[in-house]
Amino acid sequence: MKTLQTGDQNLVKQINKSIVFTYIGKNGPVSRAQISKDTGLNKATVSTMVSELITDSFVYEIGAGQSSGGRKPVLLYFNNLAGYSIGIDLGVNYLLGVLTDLSGNIIEEMNIPLKETDFEYVMNEICSIIEALIKSVPESPYGIVGIGIGVPGMIDRDENILFAPNLKWRQIDLKQIIENKFNIPTKVENEANTGCYGEQLYGAGKNIANLIYLSIGIGIGGGIIINNTLYTGTSGISGEMGHLTIESNGKKCPCGNSGCWELYASESALLEESKLAGSIDGDISIDTILNEARKGNRKVLQLLNNIGEHIGIGLTNIINTFNPEMIIIGNRMALLENWITNPINRILTERLSTYHRSNTNIRFSSLGTYSSALGASSFSIAKFLSDQKLVVKS
Ligand SMILES: [Zn+2]
Repeated sequence: MKTLQTGDQNLVKQINKSIVFTYIGKNGPVSRAQISKDTGLNKATVSTMVSELITDSFVYEIGAGQSSGGRKPVLLYFNNLAGYSIGIDLGVNYLLGVLTDLSGNIIEEMNIPLKETDFEYVMNEICSIIEALIKSVPESPYGIVGIGIGVPGMIDRDENILFAPNLKWRQIDLKQIIENKFNIPTKVENEANTGCYGEQLYGAGKNIANLIYLSIGIGIGGGIIINNTLYTGTSGISGEMGHLTIESNGKKCPCGNSGCWELYASESALLEESKLAGSIDGDISIDTILNEARKGNRKVLQLLNNIGEHIGIGLTNIINTFNPEMIIIGNRMALLENWITNPINRILTERLSTYHRSNTNIRFSSLGTYSSALGASSFSIAKFLSDQKLVVKS
């Protein structure tokens, strides 16, 4: 009985501390009195919790705020520089790494093209980016609190990469490899899930409870947030929306299916169609396509219209299934927003019921190409804060 009471008291203390910490994080700078007033915790409890948070370097106090009379209160700030996190977006043809503080502000970033998908080659590049970001970390009480990696493939609940079709990787324990090398807690997650998380925390999806994020790059992946919770399916591999069938007798896909959506609506589909159409002289990449579109290259404009229509067709399936409040289109296809928005909207208007059409907001990523890297970094921050008992999951 005694043990149970102690346990309960510890739990209450943890919850109170996490309430005070979360309040300061969201509303700081604030005074102790304000925290007490808004959270309903008594002043003594707030004071004790704040002292512990200051001792642990998660909160600091500074200056004096406005007061209606008497002694001016000291204001409390969340110490977002108490530690740093690394986020890696492993694209199929690029690698983006960011170093962020605990509020997700980017301190340093590195972006390199990947010339091939060979595992050894890509691992070397990932490790060199992590090493470079570690070297750039400023002095802080907690140093690097975690590494998050967004991977374009199926990741199970133990964070194993089961299959990444566009990288041609199978059964790889990337988490263990990185943790063994750097001795830093590592989180491996599907890149559409990291993108979805990043957009909901910092981007176009803020305050959206039912959200689908589509990462359209070399392939297409989907991140699903239902009632503010990331939905990952029974085995952790939901959201493989690039493999929705949109042509019953369509092209063969490396996943084993035919007529998959990503064969018609992704960056690789666009690059392939551009080659076939002979629309650009010289190197074909998303950047050269962007340049040609700006110059009004008619063949390129026609291709972008087709890609937009194909994206729209897949979106109708997703909207009919999930009835989301918002769909965010992210990753490199978002660079082509100006040219694909109209064909997407035209298809949605033609094919969706008016109820669905008027209730679904289609947006492009507001974090640009940073959604996945920022989300990956934030997963690690969330895990660190949860391990420190500073966030109690609701
Ligand atoms: Zn497929």
